[in-house]
Amino acid sequence: LMIRGIIPATITHHVLLGIVVVAVIWLLLTIFIGVFGADYISRRTFRPIKALTEKAASISSGDNLSERINIEHSSDEIGELAETFNDMFARLEDSFESEKRFVSDASHELRTPTTIILAECARAKKKARTKEDFIASLNNIEEQSNKMAHMISQLLSITRLDQGTAHMRMQEADFSAFLAVCCDEFVPANDRGIKLNMQIEPHIYLTFDPGLMVRVIQNLLENAYKYGRDNGNIIVALKRHKASASLFVIDDGIGISEEDQQYIFKRFWQADPSRGEDLGVGLGLSMVKQICEFHGGNITVISSPDEGSSFIVTLPAKQPTNK
Ligand code: ADP
Repeated sequence: LMIRGIIPATITHHVLLGIVVVAVIWLLLTIFIGVFGADYISRRTFRPIKALTEKAASISSGDNLSERINIEHSSDEIGELAETFNDMFARLEDSFESEKRFVSDASHELRTPTTIILAECARAKKKARTKEDFIASLNNIEEQSNKMAHMISQLLSITRLDQGTAHMRMQEADFSAFLAVCCDEFVPANDRGIKLNMQIEPHIYLTFDPGLMVRVIQNLLENAYKYGRDNGNIIVALKRHKASASLFVIDDGIGISEEDQQYIFKRFWQADPSRGEDLGVGLGLSMVKQICEFHGGNITVISSPDEGSSFIVTLPAKQPTNK
């Protein structure tokens, strides 16, 4: 739309000047509003991201991993991002906590035999008079040293397992034959008249790491003997299913209460930690479980106190039929 008008020549100059001044002021105003408006809007938009970044940086550089980002915009993308960060912090906190607990439990367990060894040395030096006194001290020291050596070797294995599946040496082999050899070669810590019976279906081929699987079998057998009944029976069975195979290690010993069954696969858990001559510190079953899971399998337990326990390892079988 164009409006034309006629104005006297004398005022043209003033009017023009006025128009120019208004235009300039308008222009400056527009620039001012534009610049500050854009700045304000971008600040408003990016403020939550900046706050989120600062909070995330402060959590990751500080000591307190239990802090969380306050989620104000829970429905938008920034809220989602904050939630993802919070999940990540929760997982990190969890893993740091369990690492800390592991180190502190391990140190505690190693301190006990160390204290006994030192006390025994001091006692032998001060009080022992006869050869028998010295032998008794040495026996005690040997027992505690064995316990430490056993635990250190378990700790090393666990550390290696924690590094993941990268170092596994999987091979396809006759698991039935492997299991039979493991049982034949197993030497129980002490003879309490317990009999081992094998019910192994022959020629079940599985893909497994023999070095790791031997530990599963040994640990389960050690426990079956340790917690088994004097003159009792242990059954080791292997059965094939369509897409898996199950290994059973069954004893008729002291059994495990229903409440305790939820803890037995945790590190450093023992129903009765005061078992004197025993080398274990509650690491065996946690390792067994980890190895089973590395093989894509799992381990479960069925048990009742005073009747016995059955440990069942299920492993995937690629080829369920004989080879
Ligand atoms: P440990 O070195 O104490 O044997 P494990 O991790 O092998 O450690 O087992 C954890 C705990 O589970 C044992 O201390 C014991 O209380 C219980 N347990 C394991 N196997 C059996 C079993 N066959 N019968 C009864 N209790 C068992």
